[in-house]
Amino acid sequence: KKRNPGQPEFVQAVQEVAEDIFDFIEDKEEYHSQQILRRIAEPDRIISFRVCWEDDAGNIRVNRGWRVQNNNAIGPYKGGIRFHPSVTESVLKFLAFEQTFKNALTGLPMGGGKGGANFNPKGKSIREIMRFCQSFMTELYRHVGADVDVPAGDIGVGGREIGFMFGQYKRITNQFTGVLTGKGLEYGGSLIRPEATGYGAVYFLSNMLKTKGQDLKGKTAVISGSGNVATHAAEKIVQLGGKVLTLSDSGGFIHDPDGIDQEKINWVKTHKTHRRGRIEDYVAEYKGATFHAGKTPWGVKCDVALPCATQNELLGDDARELVKNGCIAVAEGANMPTNLEGVHVFKDAKILYAPGKASNAGGVAVSGLEMSQNSERRSWKESELQQLLLDIMEGIHASCVQYGDQGGGYVDYVRGANIAGFKKVADAMLAYGVV
Ligand code: NDP
Repeated sequence: KKRNPGQPEFVQAVQEVAEDIFDFIEDKEEYHSQQILRRIAEPDRIISFRVCWEDDAGNIRVNRGWRVQNNNAIGPYKGGIRFHPSVTESVLKFLAFEQTFKNALTGLPMGGGKGGANFNPKGKSIREIMRFCQSFMTELYRHVGADVDVPAGDIGVGGREIGFMFGQYKRITNQFTGVLTGKGLEYGGSLIRPEATGYGAVYFLSNMLKTKGQDLKGKTAVISGSGNVATHAAEKIVQLGGKVLTLSDSGGFIHDPDGIDQEKINWVKTHKTHRRGRIEDYVAEYKGATFHAGKTPWGVKCDVALPCATQNELLGDDARELVKNGCIAVAEGANMPTNLEGVHVFKDAKILYAPGKASNAGGVAVSGLEMSQNSERRSWKESELQQLLLDIMEGIHASCVQYGDQGGGYVDYVRGANIAGFKKVADAMLAYGVV
C-alpha cells in the first residue's frame, strides 16, 4: 500500500495473488531471493499521455490515456483498451497485472498489458468516437507493434473502435500488421473473437460442474452486465440447456422469470450496442420482466452465477446471499468482479468458484490465435477455432486443478490459477537473470 498510494484496485489484485503465492514459494528459495513477485508487481513501464480532440460543437476536449506494459517475460505485451470514466492508473495497473497471469494460463506466448482512457463514450456521436480513437492512436502507435505490444478491446471498446484505431495506426506507420486484435473479418480479424470470452466462461463453468458429475441442463443462471461478455455468456448458457434469469447495466438489473432466450438476447445486443440503449427498456419489450434500478442481481435465487460487468460488483454480502440461496458455482466473466471479502465467502463455502483470470481467458486466447493467423497471413476455419477454444478452456481448468486441488473433492481455483500463471512467468524471469 505504501508503494502504491491511492491505488486500491491495484493493491487489492496484488494482495489476492500474494496470499497464494507466498504459500507456494515458501520452500522455494530462488523465487524469494530473486524477488520475482515484487518484480511482476512493478510494471515494466507505464505510458501516460494527453488525448486532445474536438467535439461536434467545436469545443476542444482533453482526456488522459495510458498504456501499462506490465510484463513481457513470455511474449509481447497483450491486453485490452478500456474507455470508461472510471479508468485510472490504478484500475489499469490491476488489469495489466491480472492479465499477465491470465495470458500465461492460456498456454500461448503473450505477456501482460492493459490500456485505456478516462473517456466516456456514452452520449458521444460516432464521429466524436472516431476522432477520439484517432487521437488516442496518434500517441499510442509509437509504443505498440505486432512483436511489441498488441492491444485489444475491453469495456467501451468494441469492433468499431478497434477499426478506427487500426485505421489510424495503418495510416501513420504505412504498415499492415497484426498490431491490434478484435479486428473486423475483412481486415485480419478472427472468427469467434466476439463470442470467445462469454463462451469460454461458460465452457469453464461446464468443466467445473463436470467434476461434480453435473452439467448446465435445467440450471438457472444469474448474469450481470449486458455487453459483449454478458450477452455471449447468456447465449452459451441457453445453448447448453440452462435458463438465464437476469442481465444488468450500470442503471440496474432486469429479472425475467420466463428466461432470457436467444431472441431476447439478440434484442439486448442490438439495443445496447447499435441503439446504445439502456437495459431498463427490456421490461417495456418483454412483459413479465421487472427492472430493479441501481441494484445488482445477486439476490435472485439461482444455481449458477456469472458476473460479467465490471470490477468489485459482487461484494461480501452478495456472495453470502448467493451461497444462502443455493448457488453452487460462480464463473467470473469480468475482471475482479468479486471483492476480496466475497472471494473468501466462496472459498469458505467451498462452492465451485472460478476467478476471471481463469474463466474469462477465452477472449485473449482467441486474440492470441488472431495474432498467429496474422503472422501466417491466413484465416482458420470456425470449426478449428471453436475446437481450439474448447481445448484451451479445458487446459486452463486442468492447470487450476493441478495446483488448486485441496483434497476431499475441493478445488481452490483461485489458488490453482494464481500458482499456475505465476510459475510460468516466474520461471521465464529466472532464466533471464536480474533484468
Ligand atoms: P462492454 O463495454 O461490452 O460491457 C460492459 C457492461 O458492464 C455493460 O453492460 C456496462 O453497463 C456494464 N458496466 C460497466 N461499468 C459498470 C459499472 N461501473 N457498474 C455497473 N455496470 C457497469 O464490456 P465487456 O463485456 O467487453 O467487458 C465486461 C467485463 O469483462 C470487464 O470487466 C472486462 O474487463 C472483462 N473482460 C472482457 C473481455 C472481452 O473479450 N471483451 C475479455 C476478458 C475480460 P453500461 O452500458 O451501463 O455501461
